[in-house]
Amino acid sequence: MIPLSDRLAKQVAGLPRSGIRDFFDLVVGRDDVISLGVGEPDFTAPWNIREAAIFALEKGRTTYTANLGLLALRRAIAGYVKKQFEVAYSPETEILVTVGVSEALDLAFRALLNPGDEVIYHEPCYVSYSPSIVLAHGVPVPITTKVEDHFALLASDVAARITPRTKILMLNFPTNPTGGIQPRVELEKLAKLAIEHDLIVITDEIYSELLYGGDGGMELPEHTSIASLPGMKERTILLHGFSKAFAMTGFRLGYACAPPVLTEAMMKIHQYSMLCASIMSQYAAIEALEGGMDAVESMRQSYARRRNLMLQGFARMGLPCFPPGGAFYMFPDVRQFGLSSKEFAMRLLEEEDVAVVPGSAFGPAGEGFVRCCYATAIDKLEIALERIENFVNRLK
Ligand code: PMP
Repeated sequence: MIPLSDRLAKQVAGLPRSGIRDFFDLVVGRDDVISLGVGEPDFTAPWNIREAAIFALEKGRTTYTANLGLLALRRAIAGYVKKQFEVAYSPETEILVTVGVSEALDLAFRALLNPGDEVIYHEPCYVSYSPSIVLAHGVPVPITTKVEDHFALLASDVAARITPRTKILMLNFPTNPTGGIQPRVELEKLAKLAIEHDLIVITDEIYSELLYGGDGGMELPEHTSIASLPGMKERTILLHGFSKAFAMTGFRLGYACAPPVLTEAMMKIHQYSMLCASIMSQYAAIEALEGGMDAVESMRQSYARRRNLMLQGFARMGLPCFPPGGAFYMFPDVRQFGLSSKEFAMRLLEEEDVAVVPGSAFGPAGEGFVRCCYATAIDKLEIALERIENFVNRLK
């Protein structure tokens, strides 16, 4: 018999395991460890949202829904996206409800990529982008963003990597793992490039509510999605979901907004592979959009306070860290210690019981940095900072 490992599809056999999960296998079951690892809100989903899911069950709403998702939810999404991003989508033909942004990403790549088509994206980035592109038979083309530019994506760097095979430009601002945002002028330059080179843009807006402006990050600054710039809606797939801002990771709910032809193509894959997203989650999501915004703002303010604490802590211990404009991650620079980011993270875990993610888990461009998720109780963050300070002082 041919060994089973030789029967695997080539693109699957070659996939690395997620560097985050690998690292966190080491932490499982260790109560002494303070984890700044997994990128998940520490809040429970707001009660009115949970109640809507319970109510759906009570009412016996336990069936499939339309493949595109409940029309009432698509209408609520259309209203929300119009307000949040200033782009109007038709609930009937331009919105698809998915199992998280994760599924939406996979659908977008699978709907568009032929073997050999290239996808440009910025790195360090979310761990799924490159594998999802490879699984869809595309070619990942990562562009390194730099701390000097606060991890914004420079249009000049993108222009230098465009080839006749480039089909998609993939964006994620605010960015996981850096917390970087894209200044509007640079976003406008990217839009111009996309139009000139006839690129499709996929924009992952999952952190777009979690923004920090003004003194101490307490103000909610403006956010521009590339989908809202002139000439862009017709070539953009906007991905968003409920996991981060509404603290609804376990509901597994997201959506894709795109022109009808693309929505229909993604819907076909979704129809055969997933059928529909969970109906209880969809009812909960309607409540999130209709009655969850106050909770989103209070969670944002709580993250803003923790972001400040982290910034002050890193400044005190002389660990360079740019002030992130969004999400709930800090991405301090650990290059001064002469350790790889993995060595730094391993030793910090072993010596001080604090778990952070090595930057290299987010692509080679993340080497020299570590990701610290501050969606953790403030007293734990204070202890984690003290322990990191002890560790850093020993390394100096
Ligand atoms: N995109 C980014 C940038 C993320 O950080 C995550 C989750 N960590 C996802 C997508 C996937 O989110 P979801 O729970 O909606 O599948």
